[in-house]
Amino acid sequence: MHTTPSRRRIALAAAGLMLGLSISLPLSAQSFEAKDLVAAEALREAGLKSGLAYELVDSLVTEIGPRPAGSLNDQRAVDWAVAQLQRLGFANVRAEAVPLRAWKRGDAHAHVTAPFPQPLVMTALGNSVATPKEGIHAEIAYYADLDALKADASDRAHGRIVFIDQKTERTRDARGYGRAVAARIQAPLEAAKRGALAVAIRSIGTDRDRLAHTGATRYAEGVTRIPAVAVSVPDADLIARMTRYGQPIKMHLALQAEGGIAAVSHNVIAEIPGSERPEEIVMIGAHLDSWDLGPGALDDGAGVGIVTAAARLMLEAGLRPRRTVRVVLFANEENGFDGANAYAEKYKSQVHQFVGESDLGAGLVYRFQSRVRAEALPAIQRIAEALAPLGIAPGSNEATPGPDAALLMRRNAWPALELSQDGSDYFDWHHTPNDTLDKIDPAKLRQNVAAWAVMAWLAAQSPLAFGPMPAAAPAAGAARP
Ligand SMILES: [Zn+2]
Repeated sequence: MHTTPSRRRIALAAAGLMLGLSISLPLSAQSFEAKDLVAAEALREAGLKSGLAYELVDSLVTEIGPRPAGSLNDQRAVDWAVAQLQRLGFANVRAEAVPLRAWKRGDAHAHVTAPFPQPLVMTALGNSVATPKEGIHAEIAYYADLDALKADASDRAHGRIVFIDQKTERTRDARGYGRAVAARIQAPLEAAKRGALAVAIRSIGTDRDRLAHTGATRYAEGVTRIPAVAVSVPDADLIARMTRYGQPIKMHLALQAEGGIAAVSHNVIAEIPGSERPEEIVMIGAHLDSWDLGPGALDDGAGVGIVTAAARLMLEAGLRPRRTVRVVLFANEENGFDGANAYAEKYKSQVHQFVGESDLGAGLVYRFQSRVRAEALPAIQRIAEALAPLGIAPGSNEATPGPDAALLMRRNAWPALELSQDGSDYFDWHHTPNDTLDKIDPAKLRQNVAAWAVMAWLAAQSPLAFGPMPAAAPAAGAARP
């Protein structure tokens, strides 16, 4: 097949992008306007000096704190977000109702009663049902990981408390967590199918702190709903050591919880209306809710601060994007993706240039990835060049954006962009009482703001549309609440 030189160069550039090489494209009608590139540089420099993201996280965690979906604090966070976005000068600031079923934690206790009685540091997993008032007292059936439980066709788990000692590997991206988290989500289902009375897992986390990590778990129709908890990593090690003695290990577990509570939360939305194509949306998001155990500084106060501050830089610079830049602060990412599902339904007919979400804490951005139609790759290449001075390398065209954005990408086949953050220490604190403001380095947050501002601005100005995606829509993007 005949290939023109320019097409070949574009193909080469696309290939270079995949390989992380830098190949510059020739100038053509498909190029960004020079003034837009100059503005991107100015946004980048302004972002590196902006303290707004940190100020916003500080305000959110100080004035609101923990904000589990459907709680009074969640509603206060919605009011806080609306007030902040209005104060910052955005247009079309609104809170869109998201009905949901809330879950509420009660008291929880667990201890080993035999062979060596010891208290355990633990917490209920989100959605867990309660135990009977007097608790559950049973022998532990130990499994090294979820696969070991799944492979067990015996009746060893029957009438017992299943314990899953799933380890979480420390990785720069979220891959280690992604591999481990199924143990949390599927534990009660797999244990109940084998007749277990309850399930306890090693916390899905990379720390050595004596704090348990919560997070959503799931039940299935037709399978008994059994209580599910996580113990701290050192307590999991303790249980593992007890298995060496060859004697039955017994545990007493008592927890209170209430689920299925009818509640309403809100997606909070703000815009900078586009000057030429206002109906096309550049969507930069984060989630407003957090787990109940901590104030959610990293998860996802940081993301709220980053995307809001990034958009605000455009207003401060007096820039008017060609497409509409929309900030979306999603409701209930942590326990059901109700906000993302509501947004996907409400805006399904609207063209989205891309969807993106900041939801891996406050580590430095090290990589820029896309999931766009092949014809848009020259624009992606140019955005990558504008991000390079921030220490950000180009990645693949198989981006997996944050969890809400990944859901939108899957449901509505919208293009997606991803700024991959260094999450090496994120899962030390994720979903624990330790997710506090002191874990955020303001300088790293500023680099994130600069990167999001550059990416959103250039996507809004791009001469190339990023979609529509080819009919065989992207399958990937594992959601990781
Ligand atoms: Zn999150």
